[in-house]
Formats: sequence, structure tokens, C-alpha cells
Amino acid sequence: MEAEQLGAGTKRAAVAALPKDFAHLAQEPELAEARNQEVRIRRAEAAKLTALLDYRARKLQEHQGQHAFTRAAVEKAIVRDAALVLTATESAVRRLLECAEFLQEKLPQTWGAYAEGAVDWARAQRIAQAAEDIAHREDLLPVLDEDAKLKAPGMNRAEVDQWVKRRVPELDAEAYSARCERARSKRYVVFAHLDDGMTKIDAMVPTVSVAALERHLWTRAQARIESSAQGAATLTQRVADEFVQRLQGSGVNGPAPTEIVPQGADSAVGSGSGSGSGASRPGSVNAKISILVPAETLLGNSEAPAVSEDKSFVLPASDVRQIAHDPQAEHDWLAAGIRADSQGSGEITSIVPLGTRYPLEGWDGASALARAVNLLDTSSRSRFVSGQLREAILTRDRTCQAHGCTRPAWRADVDHKTPHDQGGGTTPQNTWVLCRDHHIMKSHRLLPVPGKDPPQ
Ligand SMILES: [Zn+2]
Repeated sequence: MEAEQLGAGTKRAAVAALPKDFAHLAQEPELAEARNQEVRIRRAEAAKLTALLDYRARKLQEHQGQHAFTRAAVEKAIVRDAALVLTATESAVRRLLECAEFLQEKLPQTWGAYAEGAVDWARAQRIAQAAEDIAHREDLLPVLDEDAKLKAPGMNRAEVDQWVKRRVPELDAEAYSARCERARSKRYVVFAHLDDGMTKIDAMVPTVSVAALERHLWTRAQARIESSAQGAATLTQRVADEFVQRLQGSGVNGPAPTEIVPQGADSAVGSGSGSGSGASRPGSVNAKISILVPAETLLGNSEAPAVSEDKSFVLPASDVRQIAHDPQAEHDWLAAGIRADSQGSGEITSIVPLGTRYPLEGWDGASALARAVNLLDTSSRSRFVSGQLREAILTRDRTCQAHGCTRPAWRADVDHKTPHDQGGGTTPQNTWVLCRDHHIMKSHRLLPVPGKDPPQ
């Protein structure tokens, strides 16, 4: 790893490399110490796992050629020995060794990043878990492994989770569709009545059937907080109240709920995607949800999945096509041009409104886009970002733009990087999405604006 020199103190300590957006934090001696200790812990953990796997390999070697029953007993004894020396449970050690072995054998580059301290165990483990879906694809594992080595060191656990959730289905869309099909059989709802007058509800249901509900509850709860003088309840409590109202069948009147609608698109940029928003249906949820779906998926030429605008969920191609052609759903179609990188991530460079009718009937792709207005080239004289420009910025940014933050754009603010009263324009270039917490930090000059480090 690269090392940077820390100036403070008589002894200059090498600080494990930090991404350049917050490299200035290496100048804080306490943070530099914490960073170095963190990397040391990761390396020590990797060395511990390597030692355990070496022990396992040696013991199995000693019993090579013996009866399968004997070897199975040896395997169990190895786990027990390791559990004893680590004071851990045997089941925990078994899971640990299985995951470490999978990483070493199937994802050696990810293991290497862990062993040198560039990623922690939680991230390495999440990548291994996601890779199990494509464990049978010897051709795809090295692709994911290479991607992970490049991306995971710069991401936290939540970002890695969002990334693999999207990336693995992209690599093997057919396997993902089949897994979604199997997963539907796992649906359930369990009500656990506790001893304090409360009930815990645990449910497994198709994402497509509740994604709009989630947005609806948050939107209504937020609106109530903003309009409430008392402000007694927290946002979390308000969301629960809205949920109960829905369960009881109240609050159904009013604008009908929205259903997600994909947005078809193609683009000159190549991997065209679209985002769409949802429709209303009496008795349904009134909320707008946007998802990005490759045009080829809508056309039925591909099983590539759709991803929600806020990156929080992925939908199989069959669900998306069903929504897109649902006669009762109302959609706003947008075409998004994406500049994709080789690891399956992409930057949205153009957003073109296409209207409410399914746009791929008679769609002439790039030439249609060339005639349309790219909302990311527009601007407003107003200080406030509203209307289509606001929608376009939310769609472009997808989540809060503070490094490491995964809060969805639809729950966040659109902020001027250079404040409007200091001459900053209301343009896509001068605006970015920030969640409330990071917006407050930025207002106090405690959050770096991209390309400006340290914070200004
Ligand atoms: Zn944030």
C-alpha cells in the first residue's frame, strides 16, 4: 500500500493510504493512529485465519487416504480445536473457516486486499457471500474478484452491500432471475406479540409489492413532521404510525398510490437505462418510485435486472416488464445516458424526459435522444431547485453525495456547492444531493466539496 508521512510528533509514522478526498485527515495524529491500528487489526485477523487454514490443511494431510468417516471426524475435530484456542463457538469458527477458504480459493484478489489490510472482514465476507450465487461460474468469479479488489477498498460496508447486490445479478442475469423465482416461495409474515403491549412484525414479501409503500410511509411521515407544531414524535415513530394506519385501512383516500415504473432508454452512450416513476391506483400507495432499467430488458432481449434509483434494491427483469406494461400503472418515462465503468458502475450524464407513454414503441434510440432536451444541460434563475431540474439532479446523484453515505436522494436536500448568494448558479454542475446531516456539516464548512480538500 502507499504510505503517507505524518508530520506530527517526533516519530514519523506511516499512515495507511486514505482516499484523496479525505487524505487531509491523515494530518490529525489521533485519526492517523486509529487508521494504522485498524489496518494492523485487519492484517492480524487475516494472519489468524491463514494459520487456522494451514492447521486444517496439515491435519487433513496427516489423515489423507483414510476412510471418509474418519476424515469427517477429523474435520469436526479441527473446528473444535480452533474454537477452543479462540474461545469461540464451533459454529462461528466453522462459518469463519468456510468463508476464508472460499475467499482464498475463489476470490484470491479480494483475499489479498483483506490480507494487506485494504478491506476489513465485514466487506470481504459480504463479497464472498454475494459471490456464492455465481460460485459455479469459473468464468465470472475472476471478473467479480478483480472488480472487488479495485472498488472495495474505497467503499464502506453499506456501499459494498449496494454494489454487490447490483453487480452480481449484472454478471449472471439468468441465474439472478432464477434465484428471484425461487425466493418467492420463502414469503411469510410473522407477528410476535411481546410482553409490553407491542408486536414485532417480521415479513418476507416481494420487493416489487412493497417498495412504493416504503416510500409512501417515509414521505407522509416527513410531511407530518414538517407540518407539525408539536414535533413530539420522531421520524421513525411517525413512519410506524403511518404503517399502522395503512394496516388498518385508513389513510387510503387521497391520491392513489404509485407503482414503480421503469423507464426505458437507450442512448448514444451505450448502456442506456431509464428511470420511471409510478402510477396511481385507487386504494393503493401514493408515492413515486424511480428505477433504472436497460432498454434491452424492456424489449425482452435481455434479462439484465433493474436497479432502484436510490440503489437500495434490484428487481428481476420479469417484474420490471410486468410493471412497464401494466395498463393500470401511470409512468413518467425518462431516458438516462450512462457512462459506465468496467466494474459495472456508471455515471448518469444525460436525462431526457420522454412523457407518459411507453417510449419504446417505434423507438429510434439515439436519434430520438438527440432531438430531446437533456435536463442536465438546463438551469434555473431561481435560488430553489424544483420541478424537472430537481428530479433530474435526484436521478443523477441517486444517494447523498457525501463520501460513504448511502441515504437515498429522495429523502435528501439539493444543495448549491457554491452558495447561491455567493454567485453559485442553480445548475446541475453547481448542485449536489446531501442528506440532512451532511447538509448541516457542509453549511458549517465541515464537509469537503469534491475536488476541494481540505473542506472549504
Ligand atoms: Zn449523507
